[in-house]
Amino acid sequence: MATKYVYFFGNGDADGDESMRAELGGKGANLAQMAKKPLSLPVPPGFTITTDVCQEFYKLGRKYPAGLEAEVDKYLAKLEKAMGKKLGDEKDPLLVSVRSGAAISMPGMMDTILNLGLNDKAVLGLAAKTGNERFAWDAYRRFIQMYGDVAMGVDHDKFEAIIEKVKKIRGIKDDPELNVDELKKIVEEYKKMYKKEKGEDFPQDAKVQMWGAIGAVFGSWMNPRAIKYRKLNNIKEGALKGTAVSVMAMVFGNKGNTSGTGVCFSRDPSTGENVFMGEYLMNAQGEDVVAGIRTPQKLSQLQKENPKVYDQLCKIRDRLEKHYHDMQDMEFTVEEGKLYMLQCRNGKRTGAAAVKMAVDMVAEKLITKEQALLRVEPEQLNQLLLPQLDKDAVKKATEIAAGLNASPGAGCGQIVFTADEAVEWAKAGKKVLLVRKETSPDDIAGMAVAQGILTSTGGRTSHAAVVARGMGTPCVCGCSEVTFKDANTIVVKGKSYKKGDFLTIDGATGKVYEGQVAVKPATISGDLETFLGWADEVRAKSTRKTASGQTVKGFDVYANGDTPKNAEDAFRFGAKGIGLCRTEHMFFDEPKLTAFQKMIVSENTEDRKKNLAKILPLQQKDFYEIIKAMKGYPVTIRLLDPPLNEFIQAESKDQLNALAKKLDMKPAALAAKVAALDEHNPMLGHRGCRLAITYPEIYEMQVEAIARATAKLDKEGVAHEVQIMIPNVVSYREVEQIRGQAEAVIANVNKECGTNLKFAIGSMVEFPRTALIADKVAKFADFFSFGTNDLSQTTFGFSRDDYGKFIESYLDQRILEDDPFATLDPDGPGALMEIAEAKGRSVKKNLHLGICGEHGGDPASIALCYKIGLNYVSCSPFRVPLARLAGAQAVIKANAKPAAKKAPAKKPAAKKATTAAKKPAAKK
Ligand code: ADP
Ligand code: MG
Ligand code: MG
Repeated sequence: MATKYVYFFGNGDADGDESMRAELGGKGANLAQMAKKPLSLPVPPGFTITTDVCQEFYKLGRKYPAGLEAEVDKYLAKLEKAMGKKLGDEKDPLLVSVRSGAAISMPGMMDTILNLGLNDKAVLGLAAKTGNERFAWDAYRRFIQMYGDVAMGVDHDKFEAIIEKVKKIRGIKDDPELNVDELKKIVEEYKKMYKKEKGEDFPQDAKVQMWGAIGAVFGSWMNPRAIKYRKLNNIKEGALKGTAVSVMAMVFGNKGNTSGTGVCFSRDPSTGENVFMGEYLMNAQGEDVVAGIRTPQKLSQLQKENPKVYDQLCKIRDRLEKHYHDMQDMEFTVEEGKLYMLQCRNGKRTGAAAVKMAVDMVAEKLITKEQALLRVEPEQLNQLLLPQLDKDAVKKATEIAAGLNASPGAGCGQIVFTADEAVEWAKAGKKVLLVRKETSPDDIAGMAVAQGILTSTGGRTSHAAVVARGMGTPCVCGCSEVTFKDANTIVVKGKSYKKGDFLTIDGATGKVYEGQVAVKPATISGDLETFLGWADEVRAKSTRKTASGQTVKGFDVYANGDTPKNAEDAFRFGAKGIGLCRTEHMFFDEPKLTAFQKMIVSENTEDRKKNLAKILPLQQKDFYEIIKAMKGYPVTIRLLDPPLNEFIQAESKDQLNALAKKLDMKPAALAAKVAALDEHNPMLGHRGCRLAITYPEIYEMQVEAIARATAKLDKEGVAHEVQIMIPNVVSYREVEQIRGQAEAVIANVNKECGTNLKFAIGSMVEFPRTALIADKVAKFADFFSFGTNDLSQTTFGFSRDDYGKFIESYLDQRILEDDPFATLDPDGPGALMEIAEAKGRSVKKNLHLGICGEHGGDPASIALCYKIGLNYVSCSPFRVPLARLAGAQAVIKANAKPAAKKAPAKKPAAKKATTAAKKPAAKK
């Protein structure tokens, strides 16, 4: 049988249904579903041409597949029969709309044409038949305008200019005030202008009009606006077949004051409240509501003006929600008091609304908890947790530049250009926004006090971005429009901003605004608590088999946190442990920094040990507080990781002299040290456990500080579970040796303190070699933690600090589908993780596995970690709620897969969802 290209709907039945979104587009599929039983809603009849035709259309170089024309003719005849009117009939013309709609809604991105079928004669027929001359001419002028603009590319403004001219003559403001003569005059002028623009008369043949409109809709799939929209929304080209085209009988909201058109939501899309809301316009058609030419009225007004229609709409709202089990966004038109439904879809909503609706709908037994958990996009949760720009204030604000949206939230403050200034100004009680070319570890203190961070270079994994996310500080980075003029001035698009001027950034969108835009603090609602509680339940109960055949139970979320404040945030946001505590971040504060620097420049081991002894009590205090803040949950402390030269920076002579003075040494001696520490490629240099192979006393001091802090807590009766993690492992011998040294230190502390402390000692897996010898490493490691930043870096051979130069080209040309530092690559680092899982657990069946790279906060990467068989993911504290949800979604989707495979067609799957929804899981 030839492919069916056209699907009919109307007269209480339809060929398609809601399960056919891929073929009929969301709009076409829902029109069919609404038209047929059991909903049987008042939908004007019509037919939908499938997205397959769109796909063919482009394959064939903008031509239609064979047989399409005949099939359209057949369904047009059916439509004419249903309506008792004919397209192009001069006495009683059938008018249609030609509408676009893809499987995923792309609001306003593609084209729609109304009132098609009118010409110079049919307009007279329509006037006579309806006895409403004004209406007929209004419809005709709208049609010429839409067809000219949308199908034939005539500039919209040229039409508007004509209307304005006519309105001006009589001094009227609103379109509905135009009288018949004026409308006739507009039509006349439109046609003249059209001929001038296109070099031919406005088409009078309704069939020609229809095919012109169908071609325009298919063509709109590839218009720049639609392409851009897909790019922005991460819809890959080729992921969808294209747009469908629905041709349906017109109903008229512009037939006077008992007619109108509107849009409504079954619940409030911005708060999620279960209230019916919407807007409508009397005596209007289609685009008038959204176009903003006239101010629409609230739905509550319709209740007063036409209670019958309002009641009917309320009933439809209930039925559609019960049917779709979700909030509906609906378009309707009233023609002389009779209501028609023209569209419904699951409505878009804010993060707060998404959570509230999901929780409410479970209580209403409309959906199950699992369905509720799939309703909220993990990224949407960010909106609930961070301060945000006030929406009304944004409308009035002046946007001056845009960079990468690196860390969400809104930040507003006086601009400063160095970290020291930030600290100083903040101390004086000012709110500051730190603006830098890029940030370095030296800037931490300034970053910590800033309301937001703006950098002119660097990507989403740049230092500024990573640290900002960790702190939950809003950050816009790589904003190349910001240039630094002098120490006190930046220039943005030719305009100067001085130190102390106010700027505002929105880290969620990457936008930068002039002046102070009002910021609203975050609130954590009770619904969010409930909702994330369900996510925790799902993950806790989960179990799966890994590729290596191991059964793994549960899937936890830990946080990366380096300070007691981080640990408190992590705990507050629901982390079940600290997956990565970077000890080096503790050294950025004084007096630790000086002590640490002295240790680095030590002349010999003796000297080094003496300096290390000074640091020990300071680190011990930090560890004590972090472990305490986590209330008995595991805390994974990583021993020193970065190369030592990061701590001794002396670029200028002045800096060198100042540092030498601080460290109590001769500048020449310090200069020699700096030179000795210099490395060509420090990230692959003397760092991580390589430091402990050459200077074992460094890790021994750290282990001692950890053991003593734990011993103190132990004696105080405070719960603790501390794990020691060795970074940059490439050989099992490193782990064997460092472990031996650590255990000796721990034994000493136990002896001295009278404790019996045991620490899990584990290895990071950050390089391909480590994964490949995971069985050997596992003999000496109690756990693995995947450092996927370095693992991605070394698997791809991409430097994280330099890949910004080419990654956009790689993504645009689709050489790579995803940024490997944003989304864990399953074929590279992911495959190595699978090897490490299998090899590691072949030695230790219950080897505990986690991830502590930036990917631990990315939903797609979290799903991959679940599949590989990790016991937990660890991410920055502010992403913990997101990871709790994304992890639960990974579990639900993994469990749903086998069922979907069994189901042969789309229909049973849809049915299954309905039955599941009828019987929600028992409340907890
Ligand atoms: P979009 O995808 O941009 O919302 P639509 O195809 O939904 O475009 O059309 C926009 C509006 O045009 C609809 O909301 C409706 O008001 C009006 N419209 C479309 N088809 C018809 C029709 N057959 N009768 C009356 N109005 C229609
Ligand atoms: Mg619409
Ligand atoms: Mg690393």
